[in-house]
Amino acid sequence: MSKGKWTHLIIHHTGAEEKDTAQVRRYHLSLGWRDIGYHYVIERDGRVVPGRSLELAGAHCIASGMNQKGIGIAVLGNLENHPPLPAQEKALKQLVGELMGRFQIPLANVLGHKDVPGAATACPGRFLSMDSLRSAVMAGGVGGGSSGPAPPAAGNDGRERIYRVQVGAYKIRNNAENMAGKLKKAGFPAIIVEGTLDSSP
Ligand SMILES: [Zn+2]
Repeated sequence: MSKGKWTHLIIHHTGAEEKDTAQVRRYHLSLGWRDIGYHYVIERDGRVVPGRSLELAGAHCIASGMNQKGIGIAVLGNLENHPPLPAQEKALKQLVGELMGRFQIPLANVLGHKDVPGAATACPGRFLSMDSLRSAVMAGGVGGGSSGPAPPAAGNDGRERIYRVQVGAYKIRNNAENMAGKLKKAGFPAIIVEGTLDSSP
């Protein structure tokens, strides 16, 4: 499997309260698999333990052919019953950011197992919020930056500031739509705001 094949990141929980990655691996081997099904497991202390080699297709998500396209990342524990530990959340965010950068994977392709079309599962559990993960990854920057979101800043007038990211203004609607399309493809929500030259959004 060449590195260019990885186009998705699929997030799982292990679904049981295993002690560690080794236990998950033993179980998967007992099923006759060539190795643990996931490419990475995030243990309770936040350690990212390598699972099967990235040279191998995964064994974590048959739906939509994701075993061939998606890197499988599992958070140890049953996240249908409790939230991930803070150390796991932090490690997951960093790992996702790092792999997105390394394999040029857009945020839109970072999916919870249950969000994969055709998958019938509760994985990664109702306590793992993919929306929070995506926001955290965006705030941290793609590529695994460790800087968290900055606290909200207040201006001189004491009102909370927001910071808009603007990428362009176009006189031709098609050009705006092209740019919005590129952004969406890269995983960023983009909207087109119509205005006149002297109006600012
Ligand atoms: Zn899963």
